[in-house]
Amino acid sequence: MSVESLSERIADTARELVESVDGTIAAAGIAAAGTVNIREGTIVESPNLPQFQDAPLGHLVESILGVPIVLENDANAAAVGEHSLGAGRGSHDMVYLTISTGIGGGFIASDRLHRGAQGGAGEFGHTVIVAGRTPPCRCGQAGCWEALSSGTAIAREVRDRLLAGESSRILELVGGTPGRVTAREVFNAAGAGDTLANEVLDQASYYLGVGLANLLNILNPEVVVIGGGMARQWDRYIEPAIKVAKERAFRLHGDTVDFQPALLGDDNGLRGALFLAREASTRNRASARKSGPPPAT
Ligand SMILES: [Zn+2]
Repeated sequence: MSVESLSERIADTARELVESVDGTIAAAGIAAAGTVNIREGTIVESPNLPQFQDAPLGHLVESILGVPIVLENDANAAAVGEHSLGAGRGSHDMVYLTISTGIGGGFIASDRLHRGAQGGAGEFGHTVIVAGRTPPCRCGQAGCWEALSSGTAIAREVRDRLLAGESSRILELVGGTPGRVTAREVFNAAGAGDTLANEVLDQASYYLGVGLANLLNILNPEVVVIGGGMARQWDRYIEPAIKVAKERAFRLHGDTVDFQPALLGDDNGLRGALFLAREASTRNRASARKSGPPPAT
């Protein structure tokens, strides 16, 4: 699908939804996977939408709907959602981390989303935890946090060890085909006492803790909100990582931080984009008032 037809589809859907409740559109927010240039309203590149390189999605939807559009990276939007309406509500400095097939996130500093110069801040998953040539990361580098601690990383590590001849009940769970291993089977096998599964989870969770300690020392957040599929394994996977993080971070940072599971589920990106759109609409009204004609006397 071209960016033009996607823009038309987004605009049509937005119009239909708003007309169904007899409303009008004042502004809209789009949460998109990938690197987003918020100033230009473009998706610079997206691993899930590889055909979209420098795609002016925000700009196009804005010209169709004729209202301000906020185009935001989905993890950044999720951070805004959790901060404004979810587990980080009331905090001023918050990290949102999503751990599933990859690791992503966003950072709220003094109640504002920290976007960086071009809107690319928060690529936590591609900070390097193990400097070396392995394990490979989908970004083209190696030793990244998500290559060590995501669900995909766990499945890959188990697969490699099974292919190297190690024995584990995981092999039965996937019908004898190592290529079918996902993090789900690894957690199931670990719960049943499987040695290989527990070793892999212990290692991935340890690296998760190392990365969290880095975030604590760099950002000194009040709250770290953790979402994504792996957050459902809180006791087995997240808790041990928090212990490592608190041991490794400076005492000031480790003793004061609160870790919370995300509250808004898969909707947190949408809710955050909506919140940002509301802000844009308010700003727009305020600037229209300022630059508008003086009231008649
Ligand atoms: Zn990477």
